[in-house]
Amino acid sequence: MKSAKEMEMVLKEVCGKEIEACTYEELYTALLQYVEEESREKVAPVKGCKLYYISAEFLIGKLLSNNLINLGLYDTVKECLEAHGKSMAELEETEPEPSLGNGGLGRLAACFLDSLATLKLPGDGIGLRYHCGLFHQNFENGVQNETPDFWLGGHDWAQKTEKTYTVSLAGKDYTARLYQIAVTGYEGRTNFLNLFDLDTIDTEIIGEGISFDKTDIEKNLTLFLYPDDSDDAGRLLRIYQQYLMVSAGAQMILEECEERGSNLHDLPEYAAIQINDTHPSMVIPELIRLLGKRGIEFEEAARIVTKVCAYTNHTILAEALEKWPRHYLEQVVPQLMPIIEKLDALVRSRTQDASTAIIDGNQVVHMAHMDIHFTHSTNGVAALHTEILKNSELRNFYQLYPEKFNNKTNGITFRRWLLECNPELTAMIERLIGPGFKKDASELEKLMNFVDDDAVLEELADIKRDNKKALADWLKHNQNVTVNPDSMFAVQSKRLHEYKRQQLNLLYLIHQYFEIRAGHTPAAPVTAVFGAKAAPAYTIAKDIIHALLTLSKVCESDPEVSKWLQIVFIENYNVTAAEKLIPACDLSEQISLASKEASGTGNMKFMLNGALTLGTMDGANVEIAEKVGEENIYIFGQSSAQVIRRYSHGDYCAREWYEIDANIRRAINFLTGEEMLKYGRQEHLERLKNELIGKDWFQTLPDFNAYIVRKNQAIADYAQDPKDWARRALINISRAGFFSSDRTIAEYNEEIWHLGE
Ligand SMILES: *Cc1c(COP(=O)(O)O)cnc(C)c1O
Repeated sequence: MKSAKEMEMVLKEVCGKEIEACTYEELYTALLQYVEEESREKVAPVKGCKLYYISAEFLIGKLLSNNLINLGLYDTVKECLEAHGKSMAELEETEPEPSLGNGGLGRLAACFLDSLATLKLPGDGIGLRYHCGLFHQNFENGVQNETPDFWLGGHDWAQKTEKTYTVSLAGKDYTARLYQIAVTGYEGRTNFLNLFDLDTIDTEIIGEGISFDKTDIEKNLTLFLYPDDSDDAGRLLRIYQQYLMVSAGAQMILEECEERGSNLHDLPEYAAIQINDTHPSMVIPELIRLLGKRGIEFEEAARIVTKVCAYTNHTILAEALEKWPRHYLEQVVPQLMPIIEKLDALVRSRTQDASTAIIDGNQVVHMAHMDIHFTHSTNGVAALHTEILKNSELRNFYQLYPEKFNNKTNGITFRRWLLECNPELTAMIERLIGPGFKKDASELEKLMNFVDDDAVLEELADIKRDNKKALADWLKHNQNVTVNPDSMFAVQSKRLHEYKRQQLNLLYLIHQYFEIRAGHTPAAPVTAVFGAKAAPAYTIAKDIIHALLTLSKVCESDPEVSKWLQIVFIENYNVTAAEKLIPACDLSEQISLASKEASGTGNMKFMLNGALTLGTMDGANVEIAEKVGEENIYIFGQSSAQVIRRYSHGDYCAREWYEIDANIRRAINFLTGEEMLKYGRQEHLERLKNELIGKDWFQTLPDFNAYIVRKNQAIADYAQDPKDWARRALINISRAGFFSSDRTIAEYNEEIWHLGE
């Protein structure tokens, strides 16, 4: 452990001058270099099986503070900087956030890398070095605007290497270069996030906003994190990206294993590959192809690859299960098509059930089907999600391979989502139960000894108040918005998607607007905070953002309503914003349509930071409810079984709900009423209104009244008995240990990977 004095020497030497005389940029660069060196010291040799976690996304967030914490250097550096009049917070601001992911799936991959390194397991990530991460969002006249997020340039964590691999795309050879980000665990080992890139990428081809020439592969291949979850445009580019990642990755894996002594027939003893959703699925035929080139015949290669690979399913939304028209693949990866055909033939020899074919009758290739047939493990990401996979969505596969299906409930790394983002709470916990919880999260359970300790509850409430004040300052600084830290902060931050139902929250807020105007004020003033990006081509999602921004203005301009209700939309929600928002939340909004949210991880972060959850029985909310008990969570709405039944009967009719229920009608009609049109755009608001009445595919309306009742109950409880609220918050924190990604990774390792053995 270094002292602040020694740290000062180090920094002075790297910077070549006194700390006082350094800019934050210089200090950041010096620390980055220092952390790099310290991390490299913790690289350990690999024995036995090594994991390769392949993912199109790694939403890693800023790394400096995180790495300093994991290396045990954070307090020393902070002390040293402060002794010379420099602030850690300002230093953090100079680091650009690598937003190499869209949302939960990418963030999960980042949490997993932290846990692997912390548990001292040999496990690397494989992905792409996007030059621009997820777009930068700002609001112009109440509408989302997208601009490129340049995170490279200057100094960054991805170190260029001399390793290159040749990848053939559409019959032409490209050179993929390896970059590496050192991932150092908390008092653990250092692994790597391996990111591939081309040397020929050219940011000059970016046009208006985030548009660019989608056909110029040499210049655009890794230019952008594919920004769009939902539409058809640029699908070919997506296949190009995926193949670059898996081909370079597979070559690197085989090379490493051969160097360690594998003869490739014994590959499963050297490598475990986790396929994170279907984006990396082509690694299966690619490995078979590469093994073939090294003389291993097809059937054996298919057996080897099945033993090496495992697949994680992240969604039951049909539109998100990737499938490609065969001619797309024939164009981009002609070398894989003969192998995919052989795999399809093998499947057809195993089963008569055509619904599990890889290539269907319409010549469409189903990536998830290939994953399930040719990996040894298919897992869902929360107990409910896995049950739905087994019993409905992937039922036919489950009947074929019951032994392959298993559940691994998601988790989050407590180093980032507690130690880093909430130092005050961390210090309190450490004082009460010691530091063991940082590596063994189940120790948080010891906090149950303090749930009736008034002094502890008061301190917990004070910490929440401080974090709300800090968020208020941050909002003032960044968006020039003033919020009242004495109001209840109800936060819904996550990707904007209809299934997550920000529109349900919107209708509630409209309802409250009417109630307050009628003199029915809530038990406490409420600040409703949103953070969400909408995929650029997702029209209705953008309309929902517009409606919320417009309603925010309507509330603000009404002197009576604004005393009780404020709506704040955080611009450019990303990991950095999440770290500010989550510690400041009182009520965590997890209101997806039951059965649709595979797990959620935002729900875990909020719980860990002492928020109470308002949610449906969906994803990991079910397990949160189980851990904390029903009196410490606010559950409402239809069950997943009811929802699934409604879908299968096809008898949900939004218009009937609209016509029968006066509250629903009043809220929906308000969308295009004169108050909204004073600030908002008719076209957007009209479209949203018609969508809600005419379709409402995610069944907002049946849950509307139950949501109002539960949410108002939560507000009343918060207002009437703050001490009891703090008590229940403490229960949530003490029961959050299960949701550590250390637990998740330990389960993957014991049941799927068997690393180091
Ligand atoms: C955790 C996280 C998510 C996932 O949130 P969900 O509520 O689980 O969808 C998305 N974005 C960021 C920046 C996150 O940190």
